Amino acid sequence: MSIADWFSARERRRYVRAGDVSVPADVADGVWVKCDGCGKTLYEGELVEQLRVCRHCGHHLAMTAPQRIESLADEGSFEETEKGLTPVDPLSFAAAKPYTESLASAREKSGLEEAVVTGRARIGGIPVMLAVMDFRFIGASMGSVVGEKIARLFEQATAARLPVIIVTASGGARMQEGMFSLMQMAKTAAAAKRHSDAGLAYVSVLTNPTYGGVTASFAVLADVLIAEPGAMIGFAGPRLVEQTIRQKLPKGFQTAEFMLEHGMVDEVVPRAELREHLVTLLGYLRARQDRAS
Ligand SMILES: [Zn+2]
Repeated sequence: MSIADWFSARERRRYVRAGDVSVPADVADGVWVKCDGCGKTLYEGELVEQLRVCRHCGHHLAMTAPQRIESLADEGSFEETEKGLTPVDPLSFAAAKPYTESLASAREKSGLEEAVVTGRARIGGIPVMLAVMDFRFIGASMGSVVGEKIARLFEQATAARLPVIIVTASGGARMQEGMFSLMQMAKTAAAAKRHSDAGLAYVSVLTNPTYGGVTASFAVLADVLIAEPGAMIGFAGPRLVEQTIRQKLPKGFQTAEFMLEHGMVDEVVPRAELREHLVTLLGYLRARQDRAS
């Protein structure tokens, strides 16, 4: 299965068609959502109020970047940075469709300019630099602009002596930008290192799914790694790993809970508790930072 097929299959799974349930024909697609965990049909309006956690099985469904920012930042505190940064098409890449078309349709579908939204915010009154990735935008793949926005987030946080919080989700590198995508791993990792060397705190929140070059760079370089329940986290996907090593993988491989058990993440925190948890954590980390400076 090609990556393009995988994304479209995933997209098809996420929403049930209006014809599958008894709703009026004029109800917009996406108003009813099928839970990936239990298969029950959920009403989007109610689901958003519950932070997109299924009330039947507790499955954590994907959030958009704006929903996530609203759930974490103090009301009215978020100020977006680096607006208007858009990638070029260095390879004139075309697969299922030209890269420029993929970008245009991702923009239209998500209402975002790119796969990550960055900005200043306050969480429980504590000023932070916050980045949130949005899987709807070409699988939140990391191209040159995603990498640049993350690197600038760390640089601004270093200059202003602020902690960084990044909520990740990604299919990996943006193949349409070729090696420019791969270079973002080094760039973001170097910016995270300078921020860390300045004695400042970084917390990453790994959400479903976080894979590839994002996992292999800034996502796992945090002081504290939090994962959401059931989130799939890895470099290559389980099927590819299984085919490569020709061994059956253990049950729950690459889930947040498996990663916690094996020491790859520090905590698994349910979404409903995430904001309060971050406030507590930021308080501890700030106390340490104040002692160091
Ligand atoms: Zn469910």
